[in-house]
Amino acid sequence: MADSSYDCVVIGSGPGGYVAAIRAAQLGMKTAVVEKDRVGGRCLNYACIPAKAVLRVADVLSEVRDADDYGIKVPEPEIDFGAVGERRQRVVKTLTGGVSGLFKKNKVDVIESEGALAGAKKIVAGGEEIAANTIVLATGSLKRPIPGVGFGGRVIGTEEAWALTELPRTMAIVGAGASGTEIASAFARLGTDVLLFELLDRVLPTEDADISKAAERGLKRQNMKIHTNTPVQEVQAREGTVRFSYNGEAGEAEWLVIAAGRGPDIEALGLEGAGVRLDASGLVEVDGAMRTSAEGIYAIGDLVHGPALAHKASDEGIIAVEDAAGLDTHPLEYVDIPRATFCTPAVASFGLTETQAREHGHDVVVGKVQYGAVGAGTVYGDRTGLIKIVGESKYGELLGAHIVGSKATELIQELVNVRVLEGGYPEVARIVHGHPTLSEGVMEAARAADGWLIHG
Ligand SMILES: Cc1cc2nc3c(=O)[nH]c(=O)nc-3n(C[C@H](O)[C@H](O)[C@H](O)COP(=O)(O)OP(=O)(O)OC[C@H]3O[C@@H](n4cnc5c(N)ncnc54)[C@H](O)[C@@H]3O)c2cc1C
Repeated sequence: MADSSYDCVVIGSGPGGYVAAIRAAQLGMKTAVVEKDRVGGRCLNYACIPAKAVLRVADVLSEVRDADDYGIKVPEPEIDFGAVGERRQRVVKTLTGGVSGLFKKNKVDVIESEGALAGAKKIVAGGEEIAANTIVLATGSLKRPIPGVGFGGRVIGTEEAWALTELPRTMAIVGAGASGTEIASAFARLGTDVLLFELLDRVLPTEDADISKAAERGLKRQNMKIHTNTPVQEVQAREGTVRFSYNGEAGEAEWLVIAAGRGPDIEALGLEGAGVRLDASGLVEVDGAMRTSAEGIYAIGDLVHGPALAHKASDEGIIAVEDAAGLDTHPLEYVDIPRATFCTPAVASFGLTETQAREHGHDVVVGKVQYGAVGAGTVYGDRTGLIKIVGESKYGELLGAHIVGSKATELIQELVNVRVLEGGYPEVARIVHGHPTLSEGVMEAARAADGWLIHG
């Protein structure tokens, strides 16, 4: 039940909005969240979480298939895709239920409605005007089509791909960024024949070139064909199939998934009337404290500049409401935010690639080791994973780190933490790491950067 006035109203309950609301409530603000769809936002309901739930199934299947290498004989496993979907939904329900529980615990009201700005310090939701001293816009982003190809029928976005209820025999994916690559890696291992297309010259084109190469080698061992430097054209959706052309060839698949970018969900917000300006790229313009051009209105997450990532949205939400509460905040260092792709092999990074570091004029030092350099790589069955540290030679600064292989998405955090705590690769090289762990590989990569690799 909504009241007529709040200290803080957050529009959107994704990882940006729900974290902002809880933090606002912790800071003593009477808080409400306005959500037009499902609590937890797109991240928990349709994107990050369902994606990872299905990828986990593909990972388990890969392990079962590799069991022979470990002396375990198992017959060829069978996939019950209906049960896969049920587990995906259970995971989503558990996590979104958790968010609802946190709202209750923190006395955050939930207003189930579309919300819009309605002049100074006011919003309208469910036909009611609600006054709010602080308003946080956290409405996230929507899929974007590619030129000449609209969504509809068998042409779908990434969220729809993760929600498929039958395992397709064939699938074509446009865009080999994080989302496209995750879909390709999950469905290919589950048995779908996958075609993965990328306009640029490599998969995961924003990652370090060495990492892209290693990821592509791993992906090619799955049930997929990768076409880089390749636009997909002349798309025709038919009954039960999609036809298209690429490189002068004709292609056909049960589904064509467009994973080529997203745009901010701002249509319904009434930004212009409220004096909220957009920046040159059409995102909501904000300063380092997430303040928009209109007093008392903040914007966070996929609505604003920076990588479109859930954890980035959450941190921005905390900054916004802490600023509103009069606390000292610091702008996010966007380059230090960890980026993760949960395909197989997994990819994670932060900071500058080697090429970027050189372009910025740094005196670059690189430390590279394969997982096979440390005992854990062999014990746990991944010798080809790669850890690459990009440093500045003068003071041992960590400019970036790039990992491809098992647990990459967990391993990256150590290096992010060291950087944020103002340590460098010489410190990582001398921190005692447990044995046998893959994190010893991180230590060895730091030693390689520092010029004294032990194992290699
Ligand atoms: C397939 C896929 C997989 C992804 N995987 C990852 C991942 O593994 N890790 C990661 O960090 N990021 C991932 N992302 C990105 C991540 O989902 C987004 O960065 C994140 O969801 C942004 O959070 P948000 O709070 O800004 O918005 P969202 O999660 O988009 O939530 C916004 C909410 O606002 C609501 N809303 C919109 N307009 C209104 C309105 N006018 N009134 C009321 N409510 C409104 C929407 O219904 C929605 O619930 C993925 C994205 C996709 C598409």
